[in-house]
Amino acid sequence: MQFKDIVGQTDIANRITATIDSGRVSHAQLILGDERDGSLQIAWAYMQYLCCEHRQHYDGGALRADSCGECPSCKKISQLMHPDLHFLFPNPPNGSTSVSAEDYMGDFYDFMKKSRALGTLHDFNESLSGDVKTSLIRELDAAHLVEVLNMKPYEGGWRMVVVWKPSHMKREASNELLKTLEEPLPQTLILMVDDSDEQLLPTIRSRVQTLRIKAGVGPRADEANPEYAALLVGWLRMLFKLKMKELSGQVDKIASLNREQLKRFLLYAEKVMRDCFLNSAAGIACSIGSGDEKFDAQFPKMITVNNIELIEAAFDDALFAIERNAYAKIALMELSFCMSKALKKR
Ligand SMILES: [Zn+2]
Repeated sequence: MQFKDIVGQTDIANRITATIDSGRVSHAQLILGDERDGSLQIAWAYMQYLCCEHRQHYDGGALRADSCGECPSCKKISQLMHPDLHFLFPNPPNGSTSVSAEDYMGDFYDFMKKSRALGTLHDFNESLSGDVKTSLIRELDAAHLVEVLNMKPYEGGWRMVVVWKPSHMKREASNELLKTLEEPLPQTLILMVDDSDEQLLPTIRSRVQTLRIKAGVGPRADEANPEYAALLVGWLRMLFKLKMKELSGQVDKIASLNREQLKRFLLYAEKVMRDCFLNSAAGIACSIGSGDEKFDAQFPKMITVNNIELIEAAFDDALFAIERNAYAKIALMELSFCMSKALKKR
């Protein structure tokens, strides 16, 4: 992860690189901000810059420095394969007291890579199998981390830890970490990442330096998700042709999204419908990006003043059902029937 890949956080990136260049790295820091605005991305890019063997400096650009992205250290960190880079994150209890973050490391790395570190804790929990209701950082997790931080670094450089969501740390776990926060070994960096510091224990808060990132700048992934666009277009085409067998197949594909994704998909689809209505009412050509010119030209015209309310109500009902854990396929089939009825009323 390089700073140049992070949207809207140039100011904080410049502050971080200047601090690292001057050698004044504070060993315990809290990066405060929403993951969707890049708080976890900043932590990732921070460590990559810290260890980069060929830091790049730019004259005149908004971004003043960045890691090279090419050196062995950059490659290991960008692939989350650096042996001295560790993560601590909330993980679900699994009926067994010996389960810890270590057992979910593979899932966590997948989540980081797939979401480009823009996912929330909710997204992470949704990505795990099973219905995760609570997840915590427990004493066992903290004890393991302390052990790792007391070992000699494999690469002889920095020992780095990202503690994601320290607000989910149990008191015993915080106590376990306190000594390390107070008296870390040299070249230790602990980056905590959270969207709020209100739930943090005062003993932790007083020991970290806070870096607040800019809010509301990140891409809102739902709106530009190509997977959602393809699913929506496929579904609308089947609806248009009223081919029930194919429609059911397409609904199955949508229903295979996890619940959080499904909600986002429905919000996205509802927004597309509204845009179609507003644009066609204003006589503006609008494309839903199906790749089929004829369909693209025809579809928006089917959303009119006569059916937009019915369509929005159908989407709201589907969202309501999904939020209440209804069976996704049934909710989506119901939505399909309402949609097809509404389209006939145009
Ligand atoms: Zn590098």
